Amino acid sequence: MSWAGKFRARRIPGIAVSGNIDMIASFERPKPKFMSLQLHDTLQGRKVPFEPLKKGEVTLYLCGPTVYNYAHIGNARPAVVFDLLARLLRRSYKLTFARNITDVDDKINAASIETGKPIDDITAKFITAYNKDMGALGVHPPDIEPRATQHIAEMIAMIETLIEKGHAYEAENHVLFDVSSNPDYGKLSKRDLREMIAGSRVEVAPYKKAAHDFVLWKPSTPELPGWDSPWGRGRPGWHIECSAMAEKHLGETIDIHAGGQDLVFPHHENELAQSRCAHDGAPFARYWLHNGFLSMDHTKMSKSLGNVLLVHDLIKTTPGEVIRLALLSAHYRQPLDWSEETIESARKMLDRLYGALQGVDVSAADRATADVSEDLIAALEDDLNTPKALAELFGLARELNKTSDGPTRSALAAQMYASGELMGLLGSDPEDWFAGHVEGELTPADIEALIEKRNAAKAARDFAAADAIRERLSEAGVRIQDGRDGTSWRRSS
Ligand code: AMP
Ligand code: ZN
Repeated sequence: MSWAGKFRARRIPGIAVSGNIDMIASFERPKPKFMSLQLHDTLQGRKVPFEPLKKGEVTLYLCGPTVYNYAHIGNARPAVVFDLLARLLRRSYKLTFARNITDVDDKINAASIETGKPIDDITAKFITAYNKDMGALGVHPPDIEPRATQHIAEMIAMIETLIEKGHAYEAENHVLFDVSSNPDYGKLSKRDLREMIAGSRVEVAPYKKAAHDFVLWKPSTPELPGWDSPWGRGRPGWHIECSAMAEKHLGETIDIHAGGQDLVFPHHENELAQSRCAHDGAPFARYWLHNGFLSMDHTKMSKSLGNVLLVHDLIKTTPGEVIRLALLSAHYRQPLDWSEETIESARKMLDRLYGALQGVDVSAADRATADVSEDLIAALEDDLNTPKALAELFGLARELNKTSDGPTRSALAAQMYASGELMGLLGSDPEDWFAGHVEGELTPADIEALIEKRNAAKAARDFAAADAIRERLSEAGVRIQDGRDGTSWRRSS
């Protein structure tokens, strides 16, 4: 049974798989002014007021997936968190959001050799899957989705510039970045280059001047993907891809550069070094944002441990909105531990929110004109404080539950929908939410009722009847387990 199969399934028609969480409310609203957006900048190591380079406009670059496999739930965290940031920024700015696709990489080459499938087939399959899976989590497509293989000329041009300016050197068909040419190297990841060199036990490749010099270009053997270049047929290093694509689509200086915490070193440190040196010291990113890591049952996700949970599998049994809320339930910079409880508690939270909205009449006009809760915006403007923003949403639900005045209830519900829309939540009709389960599938209430019947049959020593019920549940994809605290159940995939 897959890990995902342990969860109780309740799929919302139109959401879990095809996944447009914004089905209901997507109205154009006038752009309000920011009160005060504060973001934690990794380079400065603190929360700072956000100000874009150009008034009224923001550029955002997020390091996207390497497409050789389905995205796991950890990969979904930056996609969801920075989708929320993009939604927030779009309220007040003209945002240009680029999220790249790394479609040339040694892991992709290895997957091609392992499966015998052409590289293009592998990357095309996993690009489509990534976008579909993220869509199911309510992640809007970015404005630009640049692919590394379509920017080789830009990468070669940037490498040539770096050589010309004395920041890179060619050796044995490789081109390497000369880390010693950049005194600022290590500032983003707070590493001291001299200590790094002293502590280094890495065997230095013969073509490198120093252990920490990193590859900008490397040679390809005939069976590997490669492009002609001034240094022979070869392929780019990973870091130069993002520097070249960011420059092409967003300019020399971008406002926000984002990604997972694991990318701070070496990927972002190297991107920063390349871009600054290619651009004569111009700032590369004004703000660096990094999300914390997601673990599974307090353990690092890893293939060897067999605890890698793919979004592709999880959305078969769990509504995308539940997964999105679970990912937003912790502050993005904090670690997030994923377990059955994480999902169940997100599901219960949505039950409470939709429970408050159920039966409230809200006209399309009310929704279109409703303001997002100011307290919720203030929470998000405070370095995306999603736990506080969710608490504000619950505050509205509590107020709604307390009042019986029709117009007040409508106004509060409209505000809840508008606030939920900003967070990529509450896009379903409440009736659909509570009715939502897969056609022909037993609802949790059905299952509980059958378990009760079986227990009664067992108590009456009618074991044939009890077995028949177990069989019926099993046929419906529900496994039950008798324990000291009663009978528990879970769906198998
Ligand atoms: P990759 O496809 O491995 O380059 O990863 C894509 C994105 O997912 C990067 O921003 C990573 O930092 C992020 N990421 C990978 N694993 C995790 C995890 N367990 N928790 C949070 N973010 C992760
Ligand atoms: Zn990158």
